[in-house]
Amino acid sequence: MKYCSACAYPLSLQIPPDDTRLRHVCGQCGVIHYQNPKMVVGSIPLWDTGDKAQVLLCRRAIEPRYGFWTLPAGFMENSETTAEAALRETVEEAGAHIELQSLFSMLNVPHVDQVHLYYRARLVDLDFAAGVESLEVRLFTEAEIPWNEIAFATVSHTLKFFFADLASVRAGQCFGFHSLDINRPESTIK
Ligand SMILES: [Zn+2]
Repeated sequence: MKYCSACAYPLSLQIPPDDTRLRHVCGQCGVIHYQNPKMVVGSIPLWDTGDKAQVLLCRRAIEPRYGFWTLPAGFMENSETTAEAALRETVEEAGAHIELQSLFSMLNVPHVDQVHLYYRARLVDLDFAAGVESLEVRLFTEAEIPWNEIAFATVSHTLKFFFADLASVRAGQCFGFHSLDINRPESTIK
């Protein structure tokens, strides 16, 4: 951040009175431009026939991680709820009709100043199609997941939690809620 969005004057980094962190402060109008973590919100769309469970993944048509697979997710917009963001991103990226279920995972990624949330979701039908940010959208069983081609560690961890829980659900238990702090870049999780 270089210029004040209120008056276009150059900003300087300083610790304001009664604060403990460096902030971008406008030397002309005095506005302090706080920067806080961004929310990335998505869903885990499941198509479950009873004997076969498949999750919908999107192959990214945008950087970063072009060509890698991800769950439908994206940055939360102002004026929407986390559930609305998860639904919107699933429609935009996968053209999928889902029924949103409970919040499943929360992953802190402090080195990029992000918090990722994933909701469980039930695919209502198989009428889905790649949106403009996806090259391809398809269903995967756990055995088919391309673990070496997953775009982000938050997605790999969420999928691992999900399939582990799914096995427990088959054995009569319930889905849990999973939180994890990812403190450093992980290129690939196996
Ligand atoms: Zn200003």
